[in-house]
Amino acid sequence: MTSESVVANASIDAGIDGDVESGAINPATLEITTVRQHTSVASEVITFFAIVVPIFGLLSAGRLLWGVDLHPLDLYLFAIFYFFTGLGITVGFHRLFTHKAFVTNQPVRVLLAILGSMTLQGPVTQWVTDHRKHHARSDQPGDPHSPNLGRPGFWGHVCGFYHGHMGWLFSTKGLERGEIYGRDLFNDPTIRLIDRAYFLWVVVSIGLPFLIAFAITGSTARGVEALVWAGLVRIFFFQHATFAVNSVCHTWGRRPYVTGDLSTNNVIVGILTFGEGWHNNHHAFPRSARHGLTPRQLDVSYLSICLLEKMHLASQIRLPTEQQQSRIARTGE
Ligand SMILES: [Zn+2]
Ligand SMILES: [Zn+2]
Repeated sequence: MTSESVVANASIDAGIDGDVESGAINPATLEITTVRQHTSVASEVITFFAIVVPIFGLLSAGRLLWGVDLHPLDLYLFAIFYFFTGLGITVGFHRLFTHKAFVTNQPVRVLLAILGSMTLQGPVTQWVTDHRKHHARSDQPGDPHSPNLGRPGFWGHVCGFYHGHMGWLFSTKGLERGEIYGRDLFNDPTIRLIDRAYFLWVVVSIGLPFLIAFAITGSTARGVEALVWAGLVRIFFFQHATFAVNSVCHTWGRRPYVTGDLSTNNVIVGILTFGEGWHNNHHAFPRSARHGLTPRQLDVSYLSICLLEKMHLASQIRLPTEQQQSRIARTGE
């Protein structure tokens, strides 16, 4: 292994930094520290548009509304924007900002924070706060997006799955507002600045494909076409791929590690989210930079971190030891 490996904390509650990780804040008392009991109306409205507008793009791309054409340039831009903004979430928001699985320099931090914001999943501090809370309370009361806390029976499970996938965005998102679970980011002036400029990144995310296609072709129609495919449709697909980590990867798949929650490894989600679908592995070793722990578990995000390391842009990459893995491995898996 070429990395300057640091042993990851194998505790199932690990991955929450600052006061929570040190024990100064007890996750069990989380409800008491919650600053609001329901997602704010402003957040609900913003989320509604962030979810619904990309769907209009999808309908347009499918010629079910006004309809747009499709050229190879649209597909290239779709792939490029899906890949780099996706890594903004998986490498940036998740493995770097939430779990501090590696260390990088300030320009890369800023770039990853902006790229992640371009997926329209909310500002980085909010995303990190909700996700740390998920790890602290996985599949227990207080988990913002567990699909497993609903009523029993078929419809109870359907409603639970919807809550885990996207219903939580309108009910349990943003209850902490970053002051507790995301305090390290809340107090970082650069991150706060990027958070405050969130709507700028939204405009960039949708407008940049238009500008690139317009610059290449000189056609407004081709610009709009790229805006739909590489802007709205791309945002739709990556949003729901990420949502599937919360819903599918706490419902269907294998559980090779004993983690105390219902997290699973799901290969399809793993591919669509650049390695985030190895979610049982991740709950077992939250601070690990690598989620796909076997050679067959493709983890593009980890490979990207390794590439950053080769470029001297990442260091202190955290990985679990084989001993830690075997200690909580489920026999028979
Ligand atoms: Zn999870
Ligand atoms: Zn995580």
